[in-house]
Amino acid sequence: MMRVKMTCKEAHRVVSEGLDRDLSLFERLRLRLHLRICDACTRFNGQMALLRQAMRKLSAPDDAAGQERK
Ligand SMILES: [Zn+2]
Repeated sequence: MMRVKMTCKEAHRVVSEGLDRDLSLFERLRLRLHLRICDACTRFNGQMALLRQAMRKLSAPDDAAGQERK
């Protein structure tokens, strides 16, 4: 059984991995719980979300609807 609580190190890893793959429901839940109590990781997550959007635009320039990769 995995611990529910995350360290900042784990949170950063999960956020970073979220750029390359879809996170599991449990990973997203753990991350959300951590972000609720951690401003630094909330900011980091926000920056990564922007980066992810930018990367998607670059990788699929003519897919304005933003279809999810499988
Ligand atoms: Zn944190």
